[in-house]
Amino acid sequence: MPMPRDDRDQPCSVARLTNRQLAWRALGIRSLTKDSLIKQEQLVTFSTEVFVAIAGGVIGWVVWVFAILPFTGLKNTYTGHLIIPFFFCIVVSSLAWFFSLSWIRTRKSKQIAQLHLDHGLCPSCAYALDGLDPQQDGCVVCPECNAAWNAIRVSTTHA
Ligand SMILES: [Zn+2]
Repeated sequence: MPMPRDDRDQPCSVARLTNRQLAWRALGIRSLTKDSLIKQEQLVTFSTEVFVAIAGGVIGWVVWVFAILPFTGLKNTYTGHLIIPFFFCIVVSSLAWFFSLSWIRTRKSKQIAQLHLDHGLCPSCAYALDGLDPQQDGCVVCPECNAAWNAIRVSTTHA
């Protein structure tokens, strides 16, 4: 997986989500999301997130049916075959999503970086890049994390 890099080709990070942004992502309903940056991000990562959630659900079901159910007294009950697996799959699926979110975001770091720049934010640490003068090579350098971004890519209108 390619590591995120800034416009001087130095390694950088993918800006972390705030708790509020994480909550929007966990809710996962784009039409309700109030944070416009997160709304756009959700579009970029949607298919990978759905894949991870389905894979997590399948793994949860397999684990329940083959590794847990035989050792419970629920083998021939609706509870053992429908109710518990239903909730178990949701829990495993959510955990799979939660723990792979940073991998998912790193995988799409190029698109996510541009979204941050469209909002005038540093893609590496989400610091506001407003009012900074570009250096000789045309890059704006983030005062918070030193990542450099081509000034042309940094929006001042906050799309
Ligand atoms: Zn930064």
